[in-house]
Amino acid sequence: MKKVIVLCLVLVAFISCGEQKSKNEKTVKIPVYAWTGGPGDASDQELSERFLAYKEKGIDGLLYNGGHDPETYKRVGALVKTAGMEFHAWIPTMVQGENPKISKDLYAHNRNGDSAFDKPAYVDYYKFLCPNKEGTYDFLSNLYGSVAAVAEIDGIHLDYIRFPDVILAEGLWDKYGLVMDQEYPEYDYCYCDKCTSDFEEQTGIDINNVADASAVQEWKQFRYDLITNMVGRLAKVVREKEKVINAAVFPGPTIAKAKVRQEWNTWDLDAVFPMNYNDFYLKGPEWIGEVVKEEVASVNGLKPIYSGLFICPNPENKSKENDPENHGLLPSEIETAIRASMENGATGICLFTPERMKPEHWDAFEKAIYTDYTKE
Ligand SMILES: [Zn+2]
Repeated sequence: MKKVIVLCLVLVAFISCGEQKSKNEKTVKIPVYAWTGGPGDASDQELSERFLAYKEKGIDGLLYNGGHDPETYKRVGALVKTAGMEFHAWIPTMVQGENPKISKDLYAHNRNGDSAFDKPAYVDYYKFLCPNKEGTYDFLSNLYGSVAAVAEIDGIHLDYIRFPDVILAEGLWDKYGLVMDQEYPEYDYCYCDKCTSDFEEQTGIDINNVADASAVQEWKQFRYDLITNMVGRLAKVVREKEKVINAAVFPGPTIAKAKVRQEWNTWDLDAVFPMNYNDFYLKGPEWIGEVVKEEVASVNGLKPIYSGLFICPNPENKSKENDPENHGLLPSEIETAIRASMENGATGICLFTPERMKPEHWDAFEKAIYTDYTKE
């Protein structure tokens, strides 16, 4: 009998030792963020359960799209913090729908002279503000300042901090029936009076009277700088509240500059979240590694790059879907996407979105995030 007890004790010691080991192994984990939003009609308890489940799955912080009201971020932020995650307010920047606080003359104009408010490009919500108007800055600094003042948030996450896509990602051409082989006037912004006259004053070039505006490098740079300056001014507002500021950007920055005029490698941010959504560029998951390499090099490795991954919501239908919004990473592509990001210098990854993840995605995700990617 004694022998049996001793054997049992040995076994128990052995088993608990084994458990100890697997827990230790699990301490190697890559940082993971996720884009999500709400809260809709969800109760505090429903939200808490959801946030605890995300934390349990390995998510360390949420970029949370909850509108403009600071009270929403206060309520949701408290629940996210209790669940043990970081909480960043994800609020679109240059895209702003009709709002009594925004004068119509603050909206950007295209090369045909049309306002993005009256005649938005591609889709009805593409109502972009002009980044060169003081009223635009006033509106945005009030918005982000009031949310950054909420004690429960860690930071502000900018999105749509850019011009409308002058060249749409290749994967979207069919959807909109376009071949975007050059910069067409209806998608090329901002030609408002203030932008064109400020540019002429700076450079002597009357951009409305050149044969090919897309060939004028100074005009491109002028517009990169408008966005860069806006980021810098908003960063000041956010940091005055002792919060961090980061942004969702297009990949690159080569692609980001060419398509939406984001020279984001020069921006004054604490972290960058490039949307490395391979399917929109008709590329496989290994392409994510190439673009992350460029992204990390573009900031000289000095700023964290969190590689944004676009998840396929219905993997079984992907091949039949024409709309790239329903494409994205399959469970079988998750490992490649995460490995390619981490081996090329990403600090971590960011999921778009946890709600799109199927059980098979989570299985692949769990294996990939508990892996040591540091090179020996
Ligand atoms: Zn303008």
